[in-house]
Amino acid sequence: MRSIYTCPHCGKKAFGPWTKAFAGQMNSKGKPCMQCGKLCVNGVGATWFNAIYSLLCFIAVIVIYLNAPKYEWLNSYEAVIVVGIIASYFVIPKLVNSVLFKLHESIRLNY
Ligand SMILES: [Zn+2]
Repeated sequence: MRSIYTCPHCGKKAFGPWTKAFAGQMNSKGKPCMQCGKLCVNGVGATWFNAIYSLLCFIAVIVIYLNAPKYEWLNSYEAVIVVGIIASYFVIPKLVNSVLFKLHESIRLNY
């Protein structure tokens, strides 16, 4: 059965959660397969998730920034929450990529 860690080029299970997490999305260069050396990235699902999650983080930061002066508790935790959101922006898509979505051939042209 084709798992999410299967290379789309050679069909071998050449990736693991860690290598897949760092393979990037459709718009990145990707990681070479350990079996055949061709570049692989996380597919369309991962790319969409990453785009939507980035947007949500951006909106959340703006909403907090605009509302912080209105609520005292939010005002005192504003910096912590924003740092948390920014940290999750870097961590969450990688975590999701490591356990979800199939790998895809790298489609970016490498000159
Ligand atoms: Zn391969």
